[in-house]
Amino acid sequence: MNASRNAYLDVLGIDRWVPRNAPEEPATSMRDAAPVVAPRGEGVMASIAAVPASRGAPVPAPASVSAYQRGPLAADWSGLREQVSACTACDQLCRTRTQTVFGVGNPKAEWLIIGEAPGAEEDRQGEPFVGRAGQLLNAMLLAIGLPRESVFIANILKCRPPGNRDPRPEEVSNCLPFLRQQIALLQPKLLLAVGRIAAQNLLATDAPLARLRGKLHHFGDAETPLVITYHPAYLLRTPADKRKAWDDLKFARATYGRLAAGALAPGNA
Ligand code: SF4
Repeated sequence: MNASRNAYLDVLGIDRWVPRNAPEEPATSMRDAAPVVAPRGEGVMASIAAVPASRGAPVPAPASVSAYQRGPLAADWSGLREQVSACTACDQLCRTRTQTVFGVGNPKAEWLIIGEAPGAEEDRQGEPFVGRAGQLLNAMLLAIGLPRESVFIANILKCRPPGNRDPRPEEVSNCLPFLRQQIALLQPKLLLAVGRIAAQNLLATDAPLARLRGKLHHFGDAETPLVITYHPAYLLRTPADKRKAWDDLKFARATYGRLAAGALAPGNA
């Protein structure tokens, strides 16, 4: 495992000889020590749209008809995929998309990777995280022993915002029920949100990414453990932060290890 991990660390641009406790950002440094758990009640959202939020910041009220309001969401993968592909809740996005991008991966995955929204290539191919950012994400996952096909990958938005603009609040509000339903179907042990947009929308906060990294958050009524890291597209632009991303990945891996060992029970982590 070390050899393959090291190969992917090379892809990540991580210098293996660099001391892992280099104090680049001590406040958010994540080693294999016990995870820092973010206070609950901030950034915990209802997991399924049909269930009212019991605690945490409320989901922003949708400005238009939400996907959920059109009817109950399918309780199976193929039905949900059909509902997503037929969705027209966002006036602009449903007209400008080539296709919806439902998500891809192992339906029994214990890790759910959550990004922001499809880009141009994802919109063309109908799959999240393809192209250079996707290759880097694959390398990041492999660095912690996770082949892409072993996880599930989805986005906050299932349609590409034109010009890669940020998702609008009403679009996020429209589309989040689909992601929540994906989480309900998958029941992952761990969520890994990549990038500021995914993190802020999952946690219903405008806190900067630097304040969200390095802590164990929880999402939804099931309080699924949630870890935050950088978006691979950002890391391609800012390779100096790859080492911090590696810290995040180690933190996520250590958290998952504790969950798998029963040391951190979901809902009680
Ligand atoms: Fe529907 Fe989501 Fe696409 Fe909006 S972004 S049209 S809610 S699938």
